Amino acid sequence: MSTYADVILPLPLENQYTYRIPADLESLVVRGSRVIVHFGKKRFYTAIVVDVHDRQPQTDYEVKEIFSILDATPILRRPQLRFWEWIASYYICKLGDVYKAALPSGLKLESETTVTYNPDYEADAPLKPNEQAVLDAFGRNVVKQTVSDLEKKTGLRNIVPVIASLMGKGAVGVNEELKQGFVPKTQTYVRLHPDWATEDRMQEAFDVVKRAKKQEQLLVSFLDLTHALNPVLKQEVSKKELLEKSGQSAAILDGLLKRGILQSYEKEVSRLQTRMCRLEEPHALTDEQQAAYGKILDVFAEKEVCLLHGVTSSGKTEIYIHLIRQVLRSGRQVLYLLPEIAITTQITDRLVKIFGDQLLVYHSKFSDNERVEVWNKLLHGKGPMLVLGVRSSIFLPFSSLGLIIVDEEHETTYKQQDPAPRYHARNAAIILAQMHGGKVLLGSATPSIDSYFNAMTGKFGLVELPVRYGAASPPEMILANIRELKRRKQMKDTLFSPILIEKMRQALESGQQVILFQNRRGFAPMIECKDCGWIPRCQHCDVSMTYHKFHQKLVCHYCGFTVRVPSECPECHSVNIRPLGFGTEKVEEEIALLFPAARVARMDLDTARTRTAYERIIGDFEKQKTDILIGTQMISKGLDFSHVAVVGILNADGLMNYPDFRAHERAFQLMMQVSGRTGRRDKQGVVVLQTSQPDHPLIQMVTQRAYKEMVSWQLAERSMFRYPPYYRLIILVLRSKNPTVLDEQSRQYAERLRRRLGDRVLGPVTPPVSYIQLLHIRKIVMKIEIAASIPQVRDILESVQQEMKQSTEFRQLLVHYDVDPL
Ligand code: ADP
Ligand code: ZN
Ligand code: ZN
Repeated sequence: MSTYADVILPLPLENQYTYRIPADLESLVVRGSRVIVHFGKKRFYTAIVVDVHDRQPQTDYEVKEIFSILDATPILRRPQLRFWEWIASYYICKLGDVYKAALPSGLKLESETTVTYNPDYEADAPLKPNEQAVLDAFGRNVVKQTVSDLEKKTGLRNIVPVIASLMGKGAVGVNEELKQGFVPKTQTYVRLHPDWATEDRMQEAFDVVKRAKKQEQLLVSFLDLTHALNPVLKQEVSKKELLEKSGQSAAILDGLLKRGILQSYEKEVSRLQTRMCRLEEPHALTDEQQAAYGKILDVFAEKEVCLLHGVTSSGKTEIYIHLIRQVLRSGRQVLYLLPEIAITTQITDRLVKIFGDQLLVYHSKFSDNERVEVWNKLLHGKGPMLVLGVRSSIFLPFSSLGLIIVDEEHETTYKQQDPAPRYHARNAAIILAQMHGGKVLLGSATPSIDSYFNAMTGKFGLVELPVRYGAASPPEMILANIRELKRRKQMKDTLFSPILIEKMRQALESGQQVILFQNRRGFAPMIECKDCGWIPRCQHCDVSMTYHKFHQKLVCHYCGFTVRVPSECPECHSVNIRPLGFGTEKVEEEIALLFPAARVARMDLDTARTRTAYERIIGDFEKQKTDILIGTQMISKGLDFSHVAVVGILNADGLMNYPDFRAHERAFQLMMQVSGRTGRRDKQGVVVLQTSQPDHPLIQMVTQRAYKEMVSWQLAERSMFRYPPYYRLIILVLRSKNPTVLDEQSRQYAERLRRRLGDRVLGPVTPPVSYIQLLHIRKIVMKIEIAASIPQVRDILESVQQEMKQSTEFRQLLVHYDVDPL
């Protein structure tokens, strides 16, 4: 029998802590169990046991006892812990960071976790007395409480299992806003009518309701619960929450709705739906697809990873479906990874028709309860499953993964930026599959250079699918030279070249659709005083503020800070303030003037902030309820439209010209992906690419769809400048409020690193955006040989960090690593 357990806490501290196992729990506590432990003053956490043993801990502190155990069987399955350990070690972070990212909040309750009461809950069987006590502790109008508050109120000593059991029944949830509640399929939401969405109009609104005190109070509550005047933040609130929090009645709300100040509308709140449809057979594969399918199986006989390079619309998804079916039939599980935004009803509908309730969807917009549900289904469910999920679904408790598909593998959103663990889901998936003895299929029309290089060098297999399904030919590419057109005064005061206008007109006249791509939201990236050159900048970040014309606001896209557009220049008092450059909002405005009859939709972070809004815009366009779709890169993600005749790329230069060694690769991928939205099925589409550098090699490669040329060109540069895939990048990010200390410490740090790693260490450098939210940033870049031993490099990095920690000034810095940064 073991006396001690090493556990990890959901904290970015040391990797492990040792606790004593009480005698009555000895036989229950095993690797992978969840236990409740106390840590720090009066705080408890859900911890995960990583080891049980008899070794007396070497510490001066008193060893505390495990307080209780949560599960009869471990909540983790092999090899999950080993996978976490790999992530912590490769991405140089703490196991606690990985633990935090891996488990849904509902599975890692701690004293500070907020528990929400579900007012719609009706018990179908009597609750246990302590469950009832917890629910009673909520009382009237109290919907949120922390676990430690509930503990105090109920006097229950061991409350976490009780809360966990109530969660299982749907009576409570955690850390969630009420709107993501439990049962209802649709809910009524309330937002400000756009006509009233400025501060002046708001003032008027308050004048209007001055005599109706209750309406006034409700309006105040509404403004408290939303950020209706800030275009970047939350704009809506559920009717239910609004009434509950304001304590006003529905009749009072109706008053405000009648005045037109507020609007209400129905909104879907989806959960895992039980799907009762008859299953369908997948489509039969075409000869080309069949051949590719066969080649993938051949690759899997020899290699762990296969890259499927198939042009948009070639039927990659069809091939996935056939592979998935085969793996499920052999009794193993499949994980199908997609970037966040690409998980739409389009793809889930397609999969559910074939796989029925074997399909589980794991999405970050899901409520925590739903995530716990998926987790438990995998832990306790029987039979093979297909999980369609975003990057964090690699952390689910799979028992036997036969295949991981990483679709759109080039997508940079597979890399987690913040907080730690800063992992790349594609690369981590390859390790995960290895641990399960499963295979990995990477799919893309424009593979990342990293993956393509691995295929070229034989590490991955490569299968190509160069033809579109159904004889669709690739779109015609037309270049419009903006500089020349402007010089000849053929593009005066407009964003559109004559050829693009002409093509759009033809498309609209024949009932076809148009997509316009501009990778900037807002009206203009900045405004400028024409007399003195003043440009408003964020008070907290080193960036200019984006102009949002509709709301008459300047918004910082880094921190959300918002101010009104000044009526005059604060420097020289000139009123001659003009926008510089253009974003999607301006495109929309111009289109309305050019094609007043066309139905236009815009898709960017401002209009498609929520999943429902996003799906509505896509759905309307799919059903041809809209004619022109204007958008940022959100529109480039694997969507399948049938009637798009024209794609306009309004400013290719803006995509290429930014200081990053991957800029050209990304610009190529984006332009190819956007172009792929046109001419599906049997119609040929047109892409008009507007640029002032028509002779730029990249533009030439895009028009010729010369993917391989682009790769060799970029590889030549990268090998010359010691970039990936030839070298591994590790960036040390240092941040501080105090730039002087930061500079001095960064310099010393780089010096010490150089003593150990020589000229592999570059910097410190100041990034182009040198501070965000008042934290100044410096970076030390390390270029490490691919063949170098990672554990050895990590040891060096850690020992240098220990040296730095001797200095008290160093404590003013926040420091983290970014391994394989994107
Ligand atoms: P990709 O994933 O490569 O972009 P998809 O698999 O989405 O391509 O295929 C594009 C379109 O062509 C989809 O609407 C799909 O249903 C259709 N399609 C592709 N292959 C077949 C097939 N073998 N039989 C019927 N329809 C197909
Ligand atoms: Zn000025
Ligand atoms: Zn800012």
